[in-house]
Amino acid sequence: MEIVVPELVRIKPQALQRIGKYLRTSDCNDIALFWGEGLQDLFRKTVIVSLESSGISIVHETVVDTTSIEEIFDTSLDIPSGASAVVAIGGGQVIDYCKYIAFILKKKLFTIPTIISNDSFCSPVASLYVKDKKRSISTHLPFSVVIDTDILQNAPRKYIYSGMGDLLCKTTAIYDWKLSYKKTGEYVNDFSVIIVRTALDAFLNYPVKDLENSDYVRTIASSLMMTGIAMEIAGTSRPASGSEHLISHAYDKLSSSPSLHGIQTGVAAYAVSAVQKETHNMVKESIVSCGFLQYVQENPLNREDLITAVRHAPSMKENFYTVLSQANAIEEVIEFILSDDLMREMAV
Ligand SMILES: [Zn+2]
Repeated sequence: MEIVVPELVRIKPQALQRIGKYLRTSDCNDIALFWGEGLQDLFRKTVIVSLESSGISIVHETVVDTTSIEEIFDTSLDIPSGASAVVAIGGGQVIDYCKYIAFILKKKLFTIPTIISNDSFCSPVASLYVKDKKRSISTHLPFSVVIDTDILQNAPRKYIYSGMGDLLCKTTAIYDWKLSYKKTGEYVNDFSVIIVRTALDAFLNYPVKDLENSDYVRTIASSLMMTGIAMEIAGTSRPASGSEHLISHAYDKLSSSPSLHGIQTGVAAYAVSAVQKETHNMVKESIVSCGFLQYVQENPLNREDLITAVRHAPSMKENFYTVLSQANAIEEVIEFILSDDLMREMAV
């Protein structure tokens, strides 16, 4: 099995200003450039100055407002064959779009996330619409991840709290994976478990969790990146996604006002940890120490929707054993949502 991980990774202040240099270093002199909506106004000037000073040409440029696979195919036909890289600047939508376009055109992909609200900026999976239905499509990891911590720090705080939620919930995901091994014999890749645990440790043990500190923001971003790479190594989303993700997917489907992915997975991780038991203290400490709890108390989920999502969660993915597959687990999680003091503040 050949595993290809990102070759050029830069997570630091003012990284966007150096994008031309990074592309030139990677022999990517002609690029297809894709933007998330509204981001050209904020960053295009900086990018153009950087590209021009390094002699990089833009051979195609598009603002992305869709993740329809049919539209991605159409756009792929417009990209000149001489383009040496696909560059995605923005959030999950443009990055997922470009993961697939780079995958089908066999081009190097540079992802430049302007928010880190989940682990998708460096995962091998793209969430795309296929005939109006959302599907997870396998692609490759990006060739390069460039993260400007100044941009993350200036973005609305909800995004980084969502990123923290998608990170701390790996505790319950790993538990579910190991549980599935015990109950069904599902293969567990130990090395990917170690990667995720090490990434979690770096985040949870960071001494002063101050979002004004760019090094703390770098730690959050690099830890999320490592969990994406763990998926590639394991050949499955298991190291990054368990019962808490099933609840979040169900909540997305049935709620009239879904929250951000990582907010939902973080809250759901706390709920399922009550039934997993051995993960409970760790998840509880995580949500308190990084400020996730306080953010969600101020921006809670809908309790009724969350309870319905718990009931529907096991049906979200076939042949996916989690703690919710066990007898009475669903009722126990719901009981916890209704009775736990913190839970009652996170879902009202
Ligand atoms: Zn996730």
